[in-house]
Amino acid sequence: MAHIPIRECIACGRKFLKSEMLRVVEKDGVISIDFGSKAEGRGAYICANPSCRQTAMERRKLNRAFRKNVPETVYESIREELENAGE
Ligand SMILES: [Zn+2]
Repeated sequence: MAHIPIRECIACGRKFLKSEMLRVVEKDGVISIDFGSKAEGRGAYICANPSCRQTAMERRKLNRAFRKNVPETVYESIREELENAGE
Protein backbone atom coordinates (compact mmCIF):
# COMPACT_ATOMS: atom_id res chain seq x y z
CA MET A 1 0.00 0.00 0.00
CA ALA A 2 1.35 3.38 -0.98
CA HIS A 3 2.34 5.75 1.75
CA ILE A 4 0.51 9.03 1.28
CA PRO A 5 2.21 11.90 3.04
CA ILE A 6 -0.16 14.30 4.77
CA ARG A 7 0.86 17.60 6.31
CA GLU A 8 -0.88 20.25 8.32
CA CYS A 9 -1.32 23.73 6.90
CA ILE A 10 0.29 26.39 9.12
CA ALA A 11 -2.50 28.84 8.25
CA CYS A 12 -5.75 26.86 8.56
CA GLY A 13 -4.53 23.86 10.53
CA ARG A 14 -6.26 21.38 8.23
CA LYS A 15 -4.47 18.40 6.77
CA PHE A 16 -3.77 17.98 3.08
CA LEU A 17 -1.73 15.90 0.70
CA LYS A 18 1.84 17.04 0.98
CA SER A 19 2.11 17.08 -2.82
CA GLU A 20 -0.60 19.74 -3.05
CA MET A 21 1.04 22.10 -0.60
CA LEU A 22 3.67 24.79 -0.74
CA ARG A 23 6.67 23.69 1.27
CA VAL A 24 8.96 26.09 3.04
CA VAL A 25 12.17 24.60 4.34
CA GLU A 26 14.89 25.56 6.76
CA LYS A 27 18.33 24.18 6.16
CA ASP A 28 21.46 25.37 7.95
CA GLY A 29 19.50 28.34 9.25
CA VAL A 30 18.44 29.49 5.79
CA ILE A 31 14.73 29.54 5.05
CA SER A 32 13.52 29.24 1.48
CA ILE A 33 10.61 27.96 -0.55
CA ASP A 34 11.16 24.42 -1.68
CA PHE A 35 9.47 24.32 -5.06
CA GLY A 36 10.62 20.78 -5.79
CA SER A 37 9.58 19.45 -2.35
CA LYS A 38 12.85 17.59 -2.33
CA ALA A 39 15.13 19.71 -0.17
CA GLU A 40 16.31 18.38 3.17
CA GLY A 41 15.61 20.15 6.38
CA ARG A 42 12.78 21.20 8.60
CA GLY A 43 9.67 22.02 6.65
CA ALA A 44 6.50 24.04 7.09
CA TYR A 45 3.55 23.63 4.79
CA ILE A 46 0.86 25.92 3.42
CA CYS A 47 -2.12 24.46 1.58
CA ALA A 48 -3.21 25.53 -1.90
CA ASN A 49 -6.02 27.71 -0.62
CA PRO A 50 -5.19 31.30 -1.67
CA SER A 51 -6.56 32.67 1.59
CA CYS A 52 -4.07 30.53 3.51
CA ARG A 53 -1.20 31.90 1.43
CA GLN A 54 -2.56 35.34 2.23
CA THR A 55 -2.91 34.57 5.92
CA ALA A 56 0.58 33.11 6.09
CA MET A 57 1.99 36.32 4.64
CA GLU A 58 -0.11 38.83 6.50
CA ARG A 59 0.11 37.17 9.89
CA ARG A 60 3.70 36.04 9.48
CA LYS A 61 2.75 32.45 10.18
CA LEU A 62 6.14 31.17 9.12
CA ASN A 63 7.81 33.09 11.95
CA ARG A 64 5.84 31.01 14.39
CA ALA A 65 6.40 27.76 12.52
CA PHE A 66 10.15 28.22 12.48
CA ARG A 67 10.34 30.11 15.79
CA LYS A 68 12.39 32.88 14.21
CA ASN A 69 12.03 35.86 11.94
CA VAL A 70 11.58 34.63 8.42
CA PRO A 71 13.11 37.01 5.84
CA GLU A 72 10.72 39.24 3.93
CA THR A 73 12.10 37.76 0.70
CA VAL A 74 10.47 34.44 1.62
CA TYR A 75 7.10 36.13 2.10
CA GLU A 76 7.63 37.98 -1.16
CA SER A 77 8.18 34.65 -2.90
CA ILE A 78 4.90 33.36 -1.52
CA ARG A 79 3.19 36.47 -2.82
CA GLU A 80 4.69 35.97 -6.27
CA GLU A 81 3.74 32.32 -6.23
CA LEU A 82 0.18 33.30 -5.32
CA GLU A 83 -0.01 35.88 -8.10
CA ASN A 84 1.38 33.46 -10.66
CA ALA A 85 -1.04 30.73 -9.66
CA GLY A 86 -3.87 32.33 -11.59
CA GLU A 87 -2.14 32.05 -14.95
ZN1 LIG B 1 -4.66 26.08 4.71
